[in-house]
Amino acid sequence: MSEGTARSRYPVTVVGAGVIGLTVALTLQRTGRYDVTVIARDIPSLDEETNAQQTSHEWASPWAGAHWRSWATVDDFELQVRNAPEAGVAFAKGVEYFDEPLDCEPWYMIINVPRYLAWLLGQYLAAGGKIVKRTLGHISEAADIVNGRLPIVVNCTALGARSLGGVDDKNMYPVRGQTLLVNAPHIDVTVTRISKNSTNLSYVIPRGDGTVILGGTRQEHSCDQTASSDLIETLYRQVISENVGFRPARKGGVRFEIQTCGKYMIDQYRCRL
Ligand SMILES: Cc1cc2nc3c(=O)[nH]c(=O)nc-3n(C[C@H](O)[C@H](O)[C@H](O)COP(=O)(O)OP(=O)(O)OC[C@H]3O[C@@H](n4cnc5c(N)ncnc54)[C@H](O)[C@@H]3O)c2cc1C
Repeated sequence: MSEGTARSRYPVTVVGAGVIGLTVALTLQRTGRYDVTVIARDIPSLDEETNAQQTSHEWASPWAGAHWRSWATVDDFELQVRNAPEAGVAFAKGVEYFDEPLDCEPWYMIINVPRYLAWLLGQYLAAGGKIVKRTLGHISEAADIVNGRLPIVVNCTALGARSLGGVDDKNMYPVRGQTLLVNAPHIDVTVTRISKNSTNLSYVIPRGDGTVILGGTRQEHSCDQTASSDLIETLYRQVISENVGFRPARKGGVRFEIQTCGKYMIDQYRCRL
């Protein structure tokens, strides 16, 4: 982007580089009317594996399942899937159990968030977006004059807004979510059961790369960063029995032959399901 072009655009500073901050930054950038800078303490990597390692609990995005339920027309997201399959966003068959019947059927997208973050960042950077890794103590620090103009500041700090000077939004609070990531390439349906007033949700979210998120908890105001064994025990509590069976297998394949020993005897066995 040339200096002259940047000058003709209005400066915007987006604080936060989670899914919300990067989506805001990319959307504003795509209008062609804004010179966008992102400032954030936690910044995703262009390498989705690094995002998947989830080194910090200070932000939410890399930890999300994630699935997205929509009542919107399908057309918008169909476009996104067609244009950017590498974004980690896909339609999925969804089964959801509600406490009360719904008027209409939602449809589902599954999002591989580590991949989606890398995609969002890549799109933003490729179009000339600027990003600064920095922790702000006060929101006014984001309003440094750019090209002689006071920028518009968009605050996308999520839980950070609670302690960010000048914002101090004490209405923000954490809802702790603990999940399991497992390998299960055969799962391609997302299944959810959400009960009212429950701290536990039951959900299965395939991520499109062979891995599946199993959840989870929904614990308001809990900041405990340690993964407890409670969730695993809860999942195990759904188990009715632990089973061992023996499939009839046979070296050399099916035995199918006629033998005579006074009467005919037909052997046919070895069945594999
Ligand atoms: C276990 C779990 C499962 C979830 N599952 C789903 C799901 O299935 N579907 C769904 O839609 N959502 C799900 N969510 C919720 C979803 O992850 C969040 O709503 C979303 O990621 C919030 O994005 P964000 O960009 O607002 O915040 P964050 O990702 O938290 O990003 C905040 C950004 O602000 C920056 N920041 C904060 N304070 C400062 C500061 N002082 N100075 C500079 N930068 C700062 C951070 O560094 C970060 O870059 C889940 C969340 C969890 C934890």
